[in-house]
Amino acid sequence: MYQVDEKGFYGQFGGAYIPEMLYPNVEELRQQYLKIIESESFKQEFDLLLKDYVGRPSPLYFASRLSHHYQTQIYLKREDLNHTGAHKINNTLGQIILAKRLGKKRIIAETGAGQHGVATATACALMGMPCIVYMGAVDIDRQKPNVERMRLLGAEVVPATSGSQTLKDATNEAMRHWINNPEDTHYIIGSVVGPHPFPDMVARFQSVISLEMKQQLLEKTGSEDPNYIIACVGGGSNAMGAFYHYLDRPQVNLIVAEAAGLGLKSGESAATTHLGKPGILHGSKTILMQTNDGQVVEPYSISAGLDYPGIGPVHAHLFETARADFNYITDKEAMIAGRLCSQLEGIIPAVESAHALAVLDQRKFESSDVVVINLSGRGDKDMRTYMNYNFDD
Ligand SMILES: *Cc1c(COP(=O)(O)O)cnc(C)c1O
Repeated sequence: MYQVDEKGFYGQFGGAYIPEMLYPNVEELRQQYLKIIESESFKQEFDLLLKDYVGRPSPLYFASRLSHHYQTQIYLKREDLNHTGAHKINNTLGQIILAKRLGKKRIIAETGAGQHGVATATACALMGMPCIVYMGAVDIDRQKPNVERMRLLGAEVVPATSGSQTLKDATNEAMRHWINNPEDTHYIIGSVVGPHPFPDMVARFQSVISLEMKQQLLEKTGSEDPNYIIACVGGGSNAMGAFYHYLDRPQVNLIVAEAAGLGLKSGESAATTHLGKPGILHGSKTILMQTNDGQVVEPYSISAGLDYPGIGPVHAHLFETARADFNYITDKEAMIAGRLCSQLEGIIPAVESAHALAVLDQRKFESSDVVVINLSGRGDKDMRTYMNYNFDD
């Protein structure tokens, strides 16, 4: 009921709303992706890299001091321990193996904060494939360390100088490049967004998170099913990975944390389901923040990874059907939760992941409840943000 249908839709959301010129590229993917990723030889290559290169399975850690603090049973799914520090590598490795098997010779990607760019550049270095990452000129300025990482890894970082010179302009440039190089280039999208089949493809690559969780929970609690799974949503790939194998188990409550920035009514927010309406974004029908005449509203969040005006179509469907419960977390709530996790557990979470942790302050759980937080990434990249934040304001 929550998986994509043959036409690429999740309920009313999804599809492939793309320019004619892009049709051959997307159609080739649509026809090939399932055949390739379900083949034994693909699975073998992917699983081996997840194990030896990424370091999977990522641990499921019982956080005893956080559990004591919140008087419930809290487990952290440690995606922060993956190579490159977050869940994004699961997807870029899956897509690059797919690209190789489609005979592609070159990879392009777009990136906002640089996290997806680094994960893509990493996969390209591993596979010896040329990598071009489009990035808004303004973002290149703001995200120096990630730009330097990508270049050290051998990627070419191309500034997008049109419009607001941020993510949306980088996306346009990458699309243009793909249209002009349909035969030899694969475009690696970084979340469960974009035209079908990207959302489904990315969801499948990230689904290893919940696959491992089932086994780990069975060992630790005697049941595969937790009472709650909590994850943050930018585009929604880490959440989809954590939810995937539980979508059809209604006894498992799924909780989403959206970034509310300075507050829902502040005009500086990225809480898509609370502020948005249905529309078309990046090639699919979904929920997005827009003005009355349909212009995309510039989002804001303290965490670069959640600073996105839409959500993946599958999440729009989970919202509409109320399968998942969508919460909004302000910058301040996230920062406080991130600091608490650091000081109680010795784990500094990415500010994105801190939004998921902050749900623990908003909701009351029973002392016997098993609550899994998907810790999507580590906080090393966010040290400046933590240090400069005024917690007393
Ligand atoms: C990119 C990123 C996110 C947001 O992306 P999703 O596709 O919503 O998962 C969340 N956490 C971290 C650490 C990230 O790097």
